[in-house]
Amino acid sequence: MRYCGVLLRDALFSAALLLVVAIPAQAKIQLLASLKPLALIAQEVAGDQADVGTLLPVSASPHDYPLKMSDHKRLRSADLVLWIGPEMESFLARPLANLKPQQVMTAYQLEGLYWPEADEADHHHHHQNHSAHEGKDPHIWLDPRNAALIAQALAERLAQLQPDSAQQFRANAQRFSTLLQQLDEQLMQQLTPVKNRGFAVYHEGYGHFVGRYGLHQVAYVTYIPERRPGAKHLQELRGVLAKEGECLFMEPYYKMDAMEEMAASLDLRVGLLDPIGGQQVSSYQQLLEQLGQGFLTCLADGRNG
Ligand SMILES: [Zn+2]
Repeated sequence: MRYCGVLLRDALFSAALLLVVAIPAQAKIQLLASLKPLALIAQEVAGDQADVGTLLPVSASPHDYPLKMSDHKRLRSADLVLWIGPEMESFLARPLANLKPQQVMTAYQLEGLYWPEADEADHHHHHQNHSAHEGKDPHIWLDPRNAALIAQALAERLAQLQPDSAQQFRANAQRFSTLLQQLDEQLMQQLTPVKNRGFAVYHEGYGHFVGRYGLHQVAYVTYIPERRPGAKHLQELRGVLAKEGECLFMEPYYKMDAMEEMAASLDLRVGLLDPIGGQQVSSYQQLLEQLGQGFLTCLADGRNG
């Protein structure tokens, strides 16, 4: 009898241990974000309760990236993969379909996301190559209100993975959201004076920022960064910019002599925007502030006003 009692006690003890193993308070959650902006948001929510990794290097196009074997391995071993969705990182759709649903968080599908005004798209209706950005603009993190939504939703997912830290995750997301409200107001104030200055961006990826702060984008050079525009598009672009452009924004990893020549011949200033945030960007706020500064610097001392 005594023997059985010990066995039973051992069995209960083992069961308790198993429960603890399923919810390890001290083991860090392995969180893998597809893109740097998502990793920056995740870092705010996870604090030091998770190891936050970024799948893509900052220099890679988020629309088209050849996954390596090691990338596949990282995806499989992550507790949670945070990505935008097939509208952005189409190359992840297949590998992520092989993971368990609880391993994947798709930001594009979150309820309550903010989208740029529909009339924002009117400027661009004559462009046909929409395959990569089918539907709504997937660069959702460029509106800080969306970053707050992603943070809140992520806090709930992390809370499921590690219930012991649930309160901490929610508090982190709340604190981050409050900071984002201030950042949003600050950007709104800073950018108001340059609202009417016409410009073109390098790739059509800034709709969320442009829409949120009411900026006057008149054109873009290319629909996705790695695709070079055709002659017809460049001609249209030149026409639009000649009429109402003050500034042309390029991106750090794409150099195009034709654009520099066009800017010079039309007397446009050339600015630089990075929607992903370079190596030196270490927080989401910094990423958006830098973007705001990028717009401001180029648009500020306008020849028309
Ligand atoms: Zn893009």
